[in-house]
Amino acid sequence: MSSTNVLEIFSSVQGEGKYLGCRQIFVRLADCNLSCAYCDTDFRRADFCRIETFAGSMIFRDEKNPLDAAQVVDVIKNFSGTVPTQAVSFTGGEPLLHWQFVRDVAETVKNFGVKIFLETNGTLPDALEKILPTVDIISADIKLPSAGKNLFNLHEKFLRLAHGKDLCVKIVVANETTAEEFLAAVDLVARVDKKIFLILQPVTPTKNSCAASAEKILSFQAAALQKIKNVRVIPQTHKFIKLL
Ligand code: SF4
Repeated sequence: MSSTNVLEIFSSVQGEGKYLGCRQIFVRLADCNLSCAYCDTDFRRADFCRIETFAGSMIFRDEKNPLDAAQVVDVIKNFSGTVPTQAVSFTGGEPLLHWQFVRDVAETVKNFGVKIFLETNGTLPDALEKILPTVDIISADIKLPSAGKNLFNLHEKFLRLAHGKDLCVKIVVANETTAEEFLAAVDLVARVDKKIFLILQPVTPTKNSCAASAEKILSFQAAALQKIKNVRVIPQTHKFIKLL
Protein backbone atom coordinates (compact mmCIF):
# COMPACT_ATOMS: atom_id res chain seq x y z
CA MET A 1 0.00 0.00 0.00
CA SER A 2 1.16 3.55 -0.72
CA SER A 3 2.03 6.16 1.89
CA THR A 4 2.26 9.94 1.80
CA ASN A 5 2.44 13.17 3.78
CA VAL A 6 -1.02 13.83 5.25
CA LEU A 7 -1.64 17.13 7.04
CA GLU A 8 -4.91 16.44 8.84
CA ILE A 9 -7.93 14.15 9.02
CA PHE A 10 -11.17 15.32 10.62
CA SER A 11 -14.96 15.10 10.43
CA SER A 12 -16.78 18.35 9.73
CA VAL A 13 -19.25 20.14 7.50
CA GLN A 14 -18.53 20.88 3.87
CA GLY A 15 -18.24 24.66 3.81
CA GLU A 16 -18.19 25.29 0.07
CA GLY A 17 -20.01 24.53 -3.12
CA LYS A 18 -22.74 22.16 -4.20
CA TYR A 19 -22.61 19.94 -1.10
CA LEU A 20 -22.49 22.83 1.36
CA GLY A 21 -23.57 21.66 4.81
CA CYS A 22 -23.10 17.93 4.24
CA ARG A 23 -21.21 15.99 6.89
CA GLN A 24 -17.92 14.80 5.43
CA ILE A 25 -14.56 13.39 6.46
CA PHE A 26 -11.67 15.53 5.24
CA VAL A 27 -8.28 14.11 4.33
CA ARG A 28 -5.95 17.06 3.70
CA LEU A 29 -2.80 16.23 1.78
CA ALA A 30 0.42 18.24 1.53
CA ASP A 31 1.92 19.99 -1.52
CA CYS A 32 0.47 22.03 -4.37
CA ASN A 33 1.55 22.61 -7.96
CA LEU A 34 0.24 26.20 -7.94
CA SER A 35 0.71 29.35 -5.87
CA CYS A 36 -2.51 31.33 -6.19
CA ALA A 37 -2.50 34.97 -5.07
CA TYR A 38 -5.43 34.39 -2.69
CA CYS A 39 -4.22 31.09 -1.21
CA ASP A 40 -4.86 30.89 2.53
CA THR A 41 -3.87 27.22 2.97
CA ASP A 42 -0.62 26.07 4.50
CA PHE A 43 0.10 22.98 2.41
CA ARG A 44 3.75 22.50 3.38
CA ARG A 45 4.79 18.97 4.35
CA ALA A 46 4.65 18.32 8.09
CA ASP A 47 6.46 15.87 10.35
CA PHE A 48 3.16 14.92 11.96
CA CYS A 49 -0.42 14.52 10.76
CA ARG A 50 -3.19 15.98 12.98
CA ILE A 51 -5.92 13.38 13.43
CA GLU A 52 -9.15 14.19 15.24
CA THR A 53 -9.49 11.93 18.28
CA PHE A 54 -13.17 11.27 17.51
CA ALA A 55 -15.47 12.62 14.81
CA GLY A 56 -16.31 16.29 15.33
CA SER A 57 -14.41 16.71 18.64
CA MET A 58 -11.92 19.24 17.18
CA ILE A 59 -9.37 17.66 19.54
CA PHE A 60 -6.37 16.20 17.77
CA ARG A 61 -3.59 13.72 18.27
CA ASP A 62 -0.38 13.66 16.23
CA GLU A 63 0.70 10.76 14.06
CA LYS A 64 4.16 10.60 12.48
CA ASN A 65 4.27 11.17 8.72
CA PRO A 66 4.21 9.62 6.21
CA LEU A 67 0.94 7.76 6.82
CA ASP A 68 0.18 4.63 4.88
CA ALA A 69 -3.19 4.14 3.21
CA ALA A 70 -4.26 1.47 5.74
CA GLN A 71 -3.84 3.94 8.64
CA VAL A 72 -6.06 6.49 6.91
CA VAL A 73 -8.64 3.83 6.06
CA ASP A 74 -8.83 2.89 9.77
CA VAL A 75 -9.52 6.51 10.79
CA ILE A 76 -12.22 6.88 8.13
CA LYS A 77 -13.81 3.59 9.15
CA ASN A 78 -13.95 4.77 12.75
CA PHE A 79 -15.41 8.22 11.93
CA SER A 80 -17.97 6.98 9.42
CA GLY A 81 -19.07 4.31 11.89
CA THR A 82 -19.71 7.02 14.50
CA VAL A 83 -21.38 9.76 12.40
CA PRO A 84 -23.33 9.06 9.19
CA THR A 85 -21.12 10.65 6.57
CA GLN A 86 -21.99 11.71 3.03
CA ALA A 87 -18.47 11.62 1.58
CA VAL A 88 -14.76 11.45 2.19
CA SER A 89 -13.27 14.63 0.79
CA PHE A 90 -9.68 14.50 -0.45
CA THR A 91 -8.34 18.03 -0.34
CA GLY A 92 -5.08 19.92 -0.04
CA GLY A 93 -2.96 21.49 -1.33
CA GLU A 94 -3.59 19.50 -4.45
CA PRO A 95 -4.69 15.90 -3.75
CA LEU A 96 -4.03 14.70 -7.30
CA LEU A 97 -0.30 15.05 -6.64
CA HIS A 98 -0.91 11.94 -4.48
CA TRP A 99 -3.23 10.14 -6.90
CA GLN A 100 -1.91 6.67 -6.05
CA PHE A 101 -2.53 7.20 -2.33
CA VAL A 102 -6.00 8.65 -2.96
CA ARG A 103 -6.85 5.66 -5.14
CA ASP A 104 -5.61 3.16 -2.53
CA VAL A 105 -7.66 4.75 0.27
CA ALA A 106 -10.73 5.37 -1.90
CA GLU A 107 -10.98 1.82 -3.23
CA THR A 108 -11.39 0.51 0.34
CA VAL A 109 -13.50 3.24 1.93
CA LYS A 110 -16.12 3.10 -0.82
CA ASN A 111 -17.19 -0.14 0.88
CA PHE A 112 -18.18 1.87 3.98
CA GLY A 113 -21.07 3.48 2.07
CA VAL A 114 -19.45 6.89 1.66
CA LYS A 115 -18.89 8.70 -1.60
CA ILE A 116 -15.45 9.79 -2.77
CA PHE A 117 -15.21 13.56 -3.18
CA LEU A 118 -12.21 15.18 -4.88
CA GLU A 119 -11.51 18.87 -4.27
CA THR A 120 -8.96 19.85 -6.88
CA ASN A 121 -7.49 22.84 -8.65
CA GLY A 122 -8.37 21.12 -11.93
CA THR A 123 -4.94 21.32 -13.57
CA LEU A 124 -3.70 17.70 -13.45
CA PRO A 125 -5.77 15.81 -16.03
CA ASP A 126 -3.28 12.94 -16.40
CA ALA A 127 -3.50 12.18 -12.67
CA LEU A 128 -7.29 12.45 -12.73
CA GLU A 129 -7.47 9.88 -15.50
CA LYS A 130 -5.69 7.34 -13.28
CA ILE A 131 -8.23 7.57 -10.45
CA LEU A 132 -11.40 8.50 -12.32
CA PRO A 133 -13.22 5.17 -11.74
CA THR A 134 -12.86 5.52 -7.95
CA VAL A 135 -14.16 9.11 -7.71
CA ASP A 136 -17.87 10.00 -7.35
CA ILE A 137 -17.90 13.79 -6.94
CA ILE A 138 -15.44 16.33 -8.34
CA SER A 139 -15.20 19.98 -7.37
CA ALA A 140 -12.75 21.51 -9.84
CA ASP A 141 -11.46 25.07 -9.84
CA ILE A 142 -10.82 27.21 -12.84
CA LYS A 143 -7.89 29.42 -11.94
CA LEU A 144 -7.96 32.81 -13.62
CA PRO A 145 -4.80 34.37 -15.03
CA SER A 146 -4.95 37.20 -12.44
CA ALA A 147 -4.55 34.57 -9.69
CA GLY A 148 -1.28 33.29 -11.16
CA LYS A 149 -1.05 32.18 -14.78
CA ASN A 150 -3.22 31.09 -17.70
CA LEU A 151 -4.03 27.39 -17.26
CA PHE A 152 -7.13 27.25 -19.46
CA ASN A 153 -5.84 24.49 -21.74
CA LEU A 154 -5.24 22.19 -18.76
CA HIS A 155 -8.61 23.11 -17.26
CA GLU A 156 -10.46 22.27 -20.46
CA LYS A 157 -8.73 18.90 -20.77
CA PHE A 158 -9.53 18.23 -17.11
CA LEU A 159 -13.23 19.15 -17.41
CA ARG A 160 -13.69 16.99 -20.48
CA LEU A 161 -12.38 14.01 -18.48
CA ALA A 162 -14.38 14.84 -15.34
CA HIS A 163 -17.59 15.44 -17.28
CA GLY A 164 -19.92 12.52 -16.60
CA LYS A 165 -19.04 12.42 -12.92
CA ASP A 166 -21.00 14.51 -10.40
CA LEU A 167 -19.03 17.64 -11.35
CA CYS A 168 -19.12 21.23 -10.21
CA VAL A 169 -16.76 24.02 -11.19
CA LYS A 170 -15.66 26.82 -8.91
CA ILE A 171 -14.30 30.21 -9.92
CA VAL A 172 -12.96 32.46 -7.17
CA VAL A 173 -13.83 36.11 -7.81
CA ALA A 174 -11.67 38.81 -6.22
CA ASN A 175 -11.41 42.57 -6.61
CA GLU A 176 -8.60 42.07 -9.15
CA THR A 177 -10.62 39.61 -11.31
CA THR A 178 -11.36 41.11 -14.72
CA ALA A 179 -14.60 40.61 -16.67
CA GLU A 180 -12.55 39.46 -19.68
CA GLU A 181 -10.84 36.54 -17.91
CA PHE A 182 -14.03 35.60 -16.05
CA LEU A 183 -16.03 35.42 -19.28
CA ALA A 184 -13.28 33.40 -20.96
CA ALA A 185 -13.59 30.87 -18.10
CA VAL A 186 -17.37 30.78 -18.46
CA ASP A 187 -16.99 30.15 -22.22
CA LEU A 188 -14.62 27.29 -21.41
CA VAL A 189 -17.20 25.67 -19.10
CA ALA A 190 -19.99 26.20 -21.67
CA ARG A 191 -17.90 24.52 -24.37
CA VAL A 192 -17.72 21.38 -22.23
CA ASP A 193 -21.37 21.44 -21.08
CA LYS A 194 -23.82 24.27 -20.38
CA LYS A 195 -25.39 22.13 -17.64
CA ILE A 196 -22.26 22.00 -15.46
CA PHE A 197 -22.98 23.38 -11.99
CA LEU A 198 -20.96 26.62 -11.75
CA ILE A 199 -20.10 28.31 -8.48
CA LEU A 200 -18.82 31.86 -8.11
CA GLN A 201 -16.96 31.97 -4.84
CA PRO A 202 -16.33 35.50 -3.57
CA VAL A 203 -12.73 35.47 -2.38
CA THR A 204 -12.13 35.28 1.35
CA PRO A 205 -9.79 38.30 1.63
CA THR A 206 -6.10 37.65 2.34
CA LYS A 207 -3.14 40.04 2.51
CA ASN A 208 -2.65 39.52 -1.25
CA SER A 209 -6.27 39.57 -2.36
CA CYS A 210 -9.21 41.94 -1.72
CA ALA A 211 -12.93 41.18 -1.75
CA ALA A 212 -14.92 41.90 -4.90
CA SER A 213 -17.83 44.33 -4.58
CA ALA A 214 -21.40 43.00 -4.43
CA GLU A 215 -22.13 44.77 -7.73
CA LYS A 216 -19.27 42.94 -9.40
CA ILE A 217 -20.40 39.55 -8.09
CA LEU A 218 -23.97 40.14 -9.25
CA SER A 219 -22.94 41.37 -12.70
CA PHE A 220 -20.61 38.38 -13.16
CA GLN A 221 -23.39 35.97 -12.15
CA ALA A 222 -25.80 37.68 -14.58
CA ALA A 223 -23.26 37.37 -17.40
CA ALA A 224 -22.54 33.71 -16.62
CA LEU A 225 -26.26 32.87 -16.55
CA GLN A 226 -26.43 33.86 -20.22
CA LYS A 227 -24.30 30.80 -21.01
CA ILE A 228 -24.59 28.34 -18.11
CA LYS A 229 -27.91 27.09 -16.70
CA ASN A 230 -26.99 26.82 -13.01
CA VAL A 231 -24.73 29.53 -11.59
CA ARG A 232 -24.68 30.04 -7.81
CA VAL A 233 -22.83 32.51 -5.60
CA ILE A 234 -21.54 30.62 -2.55
CA PRO A 235 -18.85 31.95 -0.17
CA GLN A 236 -16.66 29.84 2.13
CA THR A 237 -19.26 29.43 4.90
CA HIS A 238 -17.16 27.36 7.32
CA LYS A 239 -15.03 30.45 8.01
CA PHE A 240 -18.09 32.34 9.40
CA ILE A 241 -18.73 29.80 12.12
CA LYS A 242 -15.10 28.87 12.75
CA LEU A 243 -15.40 25.30 11.56
CA LEU A 244 -12.34 23.50 10.28
S1 SF4 B 1 -4.53 25.54 -5.83
FE1 SF4 B 1 -5.50 25.83 -3.82
S2 SF4 B 1 -3.96 25.12 -2.34
FE2 SF4 B 1 -2.90 25.40 -4.31
S3 SF4 B 1 -2.06 27.50 -4.19
FE3 SF4 B 1 -4.06 27.63 -5.22
S4 SF4 B 1 -5.54 28.07 -3.56
FE4 SF4 B 1 -3.64 27.32 -2.59
